[in-house]
Amino acid sequence: MELQGHLLYIDITQVCGIGCAFCMYADKHQVGMSMELSTLARENLATLINAPSVKRISISGEGEPLNNAKVFHEILGLSNGGKRFEFITSGFFPHTKMADFYDQTDRIVTATGDTCNIRLSADSHHIEKVKWRAHGFSLDYLQRRQPSGLSFSFRSIDTDRHFTRQYLTQELQRWGIEADITELGPLEDVLMVGQHRFDIDYKNLVHPAAGTFQGYLDMHGYIAAIEAKVNKHFTFGSLNKAPQANGMDVTIKPNGDVYLYGIEIQRLGNMHSERLDWQRLRSQLLRNPLARALYTEPLTELLSRLDNSDLVHSIVTRVNNPYWLVKELATHDGMLQAWEAA
Ligand code: SF4
Repeated sequence: MELQGHLLYIDITQVCGIGCAFCMYADKHQVGMSMELSTLARENLATLINAPSVKRISISGEGEPLNNAKVFHEILGLSNGGKRFEFITSGFFPHTKMADFYDQTDRIVTATGDTCNIRLSADSHHIEKVKWRAHGFSLDYLQRRQPSGLSFSFRSIDTDRHFTRQYLTQELQRWGIEADITELGPLEDVLMVGQHRFDIDYKNLVHPAAGTFQGYLDMHGYIAAIEAKVNKHFTFGSLNKAPQANGMDVTIKPNGDVYLYGIEIQRLGNMHSERLDWQRLRSQLLRNPLARALYTEPLTELLSRLDNSDLVHSIVTRVNNPYWLVKELATHDGMLQAWEAA
């Protein structure tokens, strides 16, 4: 199996007080663990981050990653340079504190020759909960301070797009910024401010609550939209546009546990107690029948192979996201064995 252009997700905290209604990690917020870096964890992260085969390092959380900004900055400092980082956030800090955070982030990435894209949540679920909104403030910061290592983009789970487009246009206007938004595809808009471009990407809503406005993408529609975007079948792993092969999609949890993204029923190791590198993770993937099937076979074909189609249909409808599917199927005896035997 050829694997290139890996994605490394690092979830640095479970702490969050924002309370979005749809949050999939609300139970984790009770425990509220935040990542700390042991000596071995630093060495492992440095090995994973600095491998040439990594296309992006994405820092997020099972909570709001701004609540562990210190560790985020420590992780940035592990890079030897030339890396693309991403920080996914609601941007809830008061604006003076947010500016300090951006200043410090820019200083670190600029010193090493890296870049960091700040990806701000801009959907109705987050916006109604956040007092200090970062969208207009951040583009204003960009215009005034011109940080050389930072860029900004937006993400939304409002798939009817109306809310996100209207909110961003009006919020930017409040900051004196005129923006135009154009549709690029089923999951992408682009927001233009003069010659400057800011991506807006749309995800589908996981576990939509009963009574949620009908108009969100269902899982099959979401998969079809991703396939159109990358011009190949949807499999697990880091999907690169055809003809490039896909990469590994690895996620590290706040306690240091390591998984393939979407297959969190099988732990690959822990960054505080084992040596990690991409070669070892690749070997684990190749030895694992379930992971191999999910990385090589189109998900729609794997789903069609499962017996009990009524149950599968109800699970797919309830979960509504391919990356939460395996966890749900694993709770039903025998469901995943067909894939492991493939
Ligand atoms: S900001 Fe993120 S982690 Fe916090 S409640 Fe909302 S969805 Fe959950």
